[in-house]
Amino acid sequence: MTKRLNILYCSSEVTPFSKTGGLGDVSSGLPRALKEIGCDIRVITPGYARPSDTSDKLGKIVESLPIRIGERSEEGGLYESRLPNTSVPVYFVSHDKYFNRKGLYQEDGNDYADNLERFTFFSMAVLYTIKKLGWKPDIIHCNDWQTSLIPVYLKAMVKEDKDLIDFYKSCGTLFTIHNLGYQGLFMGDKFPLTGLRWTVFNMNGLEFYGKINLLKGGILFSDIVNTVSPTYSQEIQTEELGHGLHGVLQARRGDLYGILNGVDYKEWDPSIDKHIAARYSLKSTSRKKICKRDLQKNCGLTIKDVPIIGIVSRLDDQKGFDILIKIMDELMQLEIQMVILGTGRPKYQDILKRFATKYPTKISVNLFFDDTLARKIEAGADIFLLPSKYEPCGLNQLYSFRYGTVPVAHKTGGLADTIIDYTPSNIAMDRTTGFLFNHYSAEDLLKAILLALSVYGDKARWKRLITSGMKSDFSWKRSAGEYVKLYKKVRGKIKEQR
Ligand code: ADP
Repeated sequence: MTKRLNILYCSSEVTPFSKTGGLGDVSSGLPRALKEIGCDIRVITPGYARPSDTSDKLGKIVESLPIRIGERSEEGGLYESRLPNTSVPVYFVSHDKYFNRKGLYQEDGNDYADNLERFTFFSMAVLYTIKKLGWKPDIIHCNDWQTSLIPVYLKAMVKEDKDLIDFYKSCGTLFTIHNLGYQGLFMGDKFPLTGLRWTVFNMNGLEFYGKINLLKGGILFSDIVNTVSPTYSQEIQTEELGHGLHGVLQARRGDLYGILNGVDYKEWDPSIDKHIAARYSLKSTSRKKICKRDLQKNCGLTIKDVPIIGIVSRLDDQKGFDILIKIMDELMQLEIQMVILGTGRPKYQDILKRFATKYPTKISVNLFFDDTLARKIEAGADIFLLPSKYEPCGLNQLYSFRYGTVPVAHKTGGLADTIIDYTPSNIAMDRTTGFLFNHYSAEDLLKAILLALSVYGDKARWKRLITSGMKSDFSWKRSAGEYVKLYKKVRGKIKEQR
């Protein structure tokens, strides 16, 4: 019998405790699925605030956690809870000054000035607390820049602490890039805060044009690297989408993989979703109408039977708002309504607010984070827009499939890997699940929306698109199996090195 894998999953956000985007959902969905296929998986994350829904189950398991940050020692602690309805332990690294704040990484659009210190503390705390617990991971699975110092420490710093070396000597690392656009860049003179030697602050280490680049450290020092869709794993090796790290990624291409994200259908399914006005499944899609009226009512739109285009997104250049705003006036001349939910760049907030004032009965702009409204949009809209310039995976198109809402998206990254386009051959095979446009431009976006709207007019054809989407299966189970294969590759590498 093969040994059960012990996996420590490190992430800076975990739904339902914390979430700013897709990472939060992945960090609960994937561990849940890995547990179901037999891994001993445990999640570790910063304890931003005491999660109210599980506070009665929270227990402090490490009282005193002194961590060296530069010249100082900072005192933290460790609490334990569970992912809801599972036996997956979630460890929360606590430190009042670092983590008990309004935001996770920023407030009012400004990154916290001490982010390097905060996530240095977290990364060190992970290694010291897990050792204290005496549970030895086979694999430490790190995610994005916030946790990328962990693999660096294991290879470049731990040698100074003999006990730590011994404890982690058979432990390997997998590093997942969820978005190459966020690299954790900090001024070079802050490097001593990391506790690392200057010898790793160079071209072959964490240095990037004079700055500290944490993501680069994760890519270089992990045993294996992956990203969240096969297409994105190729795109990031190109100058166009490599955000300056394409050379580093090309150098590691032998160890670079792409695994699609999945959906936690226990969380995202209209037949059980308590937040929407009516529950429905493939057999009862007519009940979407109730959700549509509810959405119109909630958002102050005229209640009538017109196609609704929904968007739930960070308001960022990445998400395609530059091309969307160029066609907004044209869109508003059509017999449609639009609901937008998002937070992000002030520039886009201002422009969208102006459109909402100009077309008050046709467009609803909601500039806040609201999980319930996100679900109401998935259920009440007919078309879901994802015009992202690049998209590592994207979760909303997967949620849209299940909610019978048809995505219109740019053919990039995970959107290209998951949406089956409205082409003659796909139509002939009755497998279309959405509309993709090839070139990132306002004109092509408009064309794709107009095509979707014309198909929407043909009720029987539209129903077939909805059916293909609702039948598609992106559950985490398959992706979790792919991750186990990568974990085993990591173990193989560790054995070779010994
Ligand atoms: P990213 O992680 O790049 O933001 P993803 O598509 O991977 O994009 O995941 C975004 C997740 O965040 C989805 O679950 C989406 O519904 C959610 N989300 C984004 N903005 C909001 C918001 N303003 N309110 C509620 N949920 C949001």
